[in-house]
Amino acid sequence: MTICTVARVPCPKCGRILDRAGTLGGTVDPDAPRIGDFTICSYCLSLLRFADDGAYTYVSPSEIAALDPELRDALTGAVEFAIGLMSVRPVGRRDN
Ligand SMILES: [Zn+2]
Repeated sequence: MTICTVARVPCPKCGRILDRAGTLGGTVDPDAPRIGDFTICSYCLSLLRFADDGAYTYVSPSEIAALDPELRDALTGAVEFAIGLMSVRPVGRRDN
């Protein structure tokens, strides 16, 4: 995963400030993220897009349903991957 710093802008769904974006593999575009690229809020896991005003737009379930099936499946997989990352908890020290 490649992480880059982006403008500090709130998520339009939960309001938390987002300031980094990462890729989930494949070829890394050195100019990414670009307007229209998808991202996932690391707090509420909403699917978002980079907008032309430097902010994000929320991608609604009906918009997701209207996407090309291959892209929709890739994005759904990315959201499920993010949900999996959020559910991982560090293993605590054993005191026995
Ligand atoms: Zn959010």
